[in-house]
Amino acid sequence: MLDVTLVPCLSDNYAYVLRDPATGECAVVDPSEAEPVLAALSALGARPTMVLNTHHHYDHVGGNEALCEAFPGLRVIAHASDQGRVPGQTGAVQDGDRVMLGGTALRVLHVPGHTLGAVTYASDDAAFTGDTLFLGGCGRLFEGDAAMMYASLRRIAETLDPATRIFCGHEYTANNLRFAAALEPGNGALLDAVADAERRRAAGEPTVPKTLGDERRVNPFLRCDEPALAAAVGGSHDPVAVFAAVRERRNNW
Ligand code: ZN
Ligand code: FE
Repeated sequence: MLDVTLVPCLSDNYAYVLRDPATGECAVVDPSEAEPVLAALSALGARPTMVLNTHHHYDHVGGNEALCEAFPGLRVIAHASDQGRVPGQTGAVQDGDRVMLGGTALRVLHVPGHTLGAVTYASDDAAFTGDTLFLGGCGRLFEGDAAMMYASLRRIAETLDPATRIFCGHEYTANNLRFAAALEPGNGALLDAVADAERRRAAGEPTVPKTLGDERRVNPFLRCDEPALAAAVGGSHDPVAVFAAVRERRNNW
């Protein structure tokens, strides 16, 4: 199993330190800022060989340059279309590429919507979804449209095993799930998830990760073909229209 350490950054971001169990090779996903990431690496005794960025936004790449200075030769990987927008980028990946971290293959899924160059990195048992799929929600449509984002979320949901642990870019879970519960008050798994997320936050614990299978039961953006959810936003039978309506309500919630 890929070893993953959460690194809280800024107000509500997560960076992650990944360690391949077979070789000990380490990588950092989305270093929002350098200091907490450097502290986490030091505590782990880890020297990363690469940074994996999910997209170009500052709160996901802000620590790139300082990490490159601290670890000469560090590779910085992001989508080909983000070249020039990701500080220190050395490697350009596209959909279907595999990035090797020691003995762990990380598959690249190009998932445009939040940004046009958004990618998810997925091993057999963990996926790093950035601001595309959040626990209980999804990212805003800054560069793409609803059809694009919906297709990207479907791609994640249909490609990855339900047991895959989802590690997302922000701790938005409790608020996302409260919004979802307002739309689907009859979904028992969702009500349980709200209570669990609220308990964890009250205890100062992260809600991340949850499995993809768990998310499919509670995340409204993965449930746009559910009649109860469609009915709550006007009853369209077109899942993209349902997605767009749910996204619009979430923007104004
Ligand atoms: Zn973002
Ligand atoms: Fe973000």
